[in-house]
Amino acid sequence: MTTVAPDITPILTRTPSLLIDGALVESNSEQTLSVLDPATGAQIAVAASADAVDVDRAVQAAHRAFQWGAPWRRMSALDRGRAIARLARLVEQHADELAEIEVFDGGWLRGAARAVEIDLTIRHLDYFSGWPTKIEGNTIPVSMPDTMVRTERDPVGVVAQIVPWNYPLLMAVWKVAPALAAGCTIVLKPAENTPLVAMRLGELALEAGIPPGVLNVLPGLGTVAGAALVEHPLVDKVAFTGSTAVGTAIAARCAPAVKRVTLEMGGKSPNIVFADAPRARAIAGAASAIFFNAGQACSAGSRLYVERAAFDEVVDGLAEAAGSMTVGPGRDDASQLGPLISARQQQRVRGYIDDTLDRGGRLVTGGSHTPDGVDPDGFFVRPTVLADVTDDMPAVREEIFGPVVVAQPFDSLEEIAARANNSPYGLAAGVWTRDIGRANRLASMLRAGSVYINMYGATDAAAPFGGFKQSGYGRDMGHQNLESYLETRTVWTNLDLPDGSAD
Ligand code: NAD
Repeated sequence: MTTVAPDITPILTRTPSLLIDGALVESNSEQTLSVLDPATGAQIAVAASADAVDVDRAVQAAHRAFQWGAPWRRMSALDRGRAIARLARLVEQHADELAEIEVFDGGWLRGAARAVEIDLTIRHLDYFSGWPTKIEGNTIPVSMPDTMVRTERDPVGVVAQIVPWNYPLLMAVWKVAPALAAGCTIVLKPAENTPLVAMRLGELALEAGIPPGVLNVLPGLGTVAGAALVEHPLVDKVAFTGSTAVGTAIAARCAPAVKRVTLEMGGKSPNIVFADAPRARAIAGAASAIFFNAGQACSAGSRLYVERAAFDEVVDGLAEAAGSMTVGPGRDDASQLGPLISARQQQRVRGYIDDTLDRGGRLVTGGSHTPDGVDPDGFFVRPTVLADVTDDMPAVREEIFGPVVVAQPFDSLEEIAARANNSPYGLAAGVWTRDIGRANRLASMLRAGSVYINMYGATDAAAPFGGFKQSGYGRDMGHQNLESYLETRTVWTNLDLPDGSAD
């Protein structure tokens, strides 16, 4: 069954362009990006691919928009918040269109795109629209007489925001909303596979009254546009979400100029089920933790640990859930698991499945062969459960970023805390048990930025999200995120001035 969806042909057939200083402009480069429908492998649009000259134009525009006296800097905090709120309303009005773009260039299921990508984007913008009027300095009781010391909060400046393809709109808005609330100006670089929705976000921001030059959007290659952005001397901060390999290289390149950096990177998150956990709920939770968005989530529960007494029952239940999922394109409302983003990702993920089986792992369900009933040129992978794995196997240690979970038994709380933490990553973890005391004790032992107890993977604009260890530093969401877009200026005033004209 297919519901009536908005016609996004005008968006797919647009002339490839960049959004710089409030205008759609042609790229300096003749290169373009081919945007594919992951469900068919067919090209659906062509996007511009910014080069270093374009990056300089965009950063210069953001720099001008940040200058003292520019409209954005003169705008009151209240009006800045109102502009962000207007952007939220515009996203609401364009919800169906934006969701449809996600279906076609991101491979999203239509319902999930609406419920997650779009609705969370709206909530995020609404949350941050309230912040500009609450950004305050304070007065400091220093130990000197006749001295007033106060602090002011200043926006960091020009921010380069580099985001991945798995949540093309939400990942952008996680960064754009707090930066706008803080009063920064932005050059946003979406991932090469999913440039379309970010361009629409930039256009809606203009319509919302956010002045030209404040949010510039540059589709382009990471190695070209991304690298030039990171290197640009007028960029004050880089906010990055993506792989740990790229993020660490960006941090190294930002170090000499002391650019501010926040990194949200990969994960290999443990999802831990005790034998006393409500069984059906834990199984459904484990399934959605790894199969939502075809496992292309940084916080995916990709390592499933089940207390030995319940292992077979939980793994069988998960296999049944996986085996009954309808794999298909997001535009078909019957689909429960969509395609991966690219042929490259599909091959990578299949490689992990085959490698695990070669090493003696057991295929409980799924596998690397093409699912039934899908376009063979689409980038689909079956929901897959692997067991009889060991802690040293690549599928257990490395981020797969697909619908593949490795299941292992455990025997005690101390053992599982150590094994869960035995990873270079530390993004998220799940704990399923009726014993809330034990769950909270384990939560405190887990080296992870988010721990979910009897639930998994929720996010909220008010709740910080980010990683321990190689999953990154800094936080998206919450006031901690806002802080990363603000500097503190300490202003000292000597109040002991001589009377009259005497010096
Ligand atoms: P990626 O690192 O390849 O790309 C991310 C972004 O970086 C893209 O826009 C890309 O063009 C850009 N980029 C690539 N090379 C660059 C370079 N040399 N200089 C500057 N920019 C460059 O990651 P991906 O494959 O697009 O995304 C998947 C990764 O993102 C996964 O590892 C996932 O865990 C991570 N992720 C993390 C979070 C989080 O919040 N922690 C959220 C979503 C995704």
